[in-house]
Amino acid sequence: MDMISGLRAAAAGTAGTGVDTARSRALLSDDLVSAFSLRGRTAVVTGAASGIGRQAAITFAHAGADVVLGDLDRDGLEATAAEVVAAGGTATVAPTDVSDRSQVNALAVAAVRAGGRLDVWANVAGVIRTCRIVDATPEDLDAVTRVNLYGTYWGVAAAGRAMKHGGSIINVSSAGGEMPAPTLSVYAMTKAAIAHLTRCAAAELGPAGIRVNAVAPGFTDTPMVQRLWTRPDGSVDEDARAQMLALRSAQSPLGTTATADDQAWAMLYLAADASRFVTGQVLRPNGGVVM
Ligand code: NAP
Repeated sequence: MDMISGLRAAAAGTAGTGVDTARSRALLSDDLVSAFSLRGRTAVVTGAASGIGRQAAITFAHAGADVVLGDLDRDGLEATAAEVVAAGGTATVAPTDVSDRSQVNALAVAAVRAGGRLDVWANVAGVIRTCRIVDATPEDLDAVTRVNLYGTYWGVAAAGRAMKHGGSIINVSSAGGEMPAPTLSVYAMTKAAIAHLTRCAAAELGPAGIRVNAVAPGFTDTPMVQRLWTRPDGSVDEDARAQMLALRSAQSPLGTTATADDQAWAMLYLAADASRFVTGQVLRPNGGVVM
């Protein structure tokens, strides 16, 4: 059962016995379902081979979108597409290096070709690299900036051109973009810039009916952070994992860390009509680590 059918079934199961009450609940549930539905819409997700991007793509597909999946990792994209198709959805695999403007433009063309229109574009692809400021090389800055910042910028530009009927662009910033931390300056700088790019783009694209928002995730259990406790031979250092999760959980008033689902649900809200009056905002699914 997809998400929309599930919501309908849940609403039907809780309908009251009085005619008026049942009717108003049915109307409410229809509004609720359509507010979060992406049925008939085409959604591009970059970074869709892994982690948050993969989960966002699967969640968008459960909400009814035809998804177009961009990432460097073709095998990972195929795996995401297989999950979407197994759930009854439609996915187009489009290997893309988001740091290359012409490839990002080609991704937009592929999306319009696949769906006939473009409605949602999520810039999720990202990389992290640690270095002390005093040791940083031009290569450190280039490697992170080209993916996180240029990749997001070219994604916003391509989506802005291709969205002929309005739409929703979702960027991915980070709690790290707001909280200074040693060795993370380059990553944090790009994520802070993404938050401001989001506001600039919202101002520029709003008149075309295009909303631009960002999520700024807190620590989320994905392959990006799993590398912190994975040994070079691929085995997991369980002590390092437990220590890291305990440390990050303790930073949150909720006492826990996020899964990719937590980010995907926030992104679905920003993608769907439920957020139709929301633009230029940074939503922080971070467990209250930054308020
Ligand atoms: P992830 O599991 O590593 O996924 C990132 C994906 O982006 C990978 O499939 C990666 O491919 C892909 N990618 C890297 N460079 C690319 C390029 N040039 N073109 C296209 N795709 C490229 O990481 P994640 O945790 O899901 O992160 C997703 C986003 O959330 C990132 O922007 C990250 O900065 C942000 N974020 C994550 C956290 C967290 O705690 N996980 C917190 C805040 C923000 P490869 O694996 O081949 O490199």
